[in-house]
Amino acid sequence: MDEMIFRLYCEMCGYNRWTDGTDVDDLLVYQRSSIQTGIPKYDPKQKKTVQKDFHKLPKQFKCPKCGRLITAKKYPKPKDAKADRNEETDDVRNQDGNAGL
Ligand SMILES: [Zn+2]
Repeated sequence: MDEMIFRLYCEMCGYNRWTDGTDVDDLLVYQRSSIQTGIPKYDPKQKKTVQKDFHKLPKQFKCPKCGRLITAKKYPKPKDAKADRNEETDDVRNQDGNAGL
């Protein structure tokens, strides 16, 4: 699987930050409870209540500019942009370095 990065974007004030999750110690994390996917059911055979699985919610942070909550969104890590550009110019340009127009 590809490496993932996180975007912290505040829609209210435009605060934007990309992180790999290791440098967010300066931000305030908002604790969120997990949500159960269904109601607990009683199992007559085992004679006990069977709990459903819990669904974890994405982490939320307090915006350092305006104080609203920001949900961290996950994105695949982009490839090395410089390497991509070099490949592109090799295809388009001829040996003189002109665009071939
Ligand atoms: Zn904000």
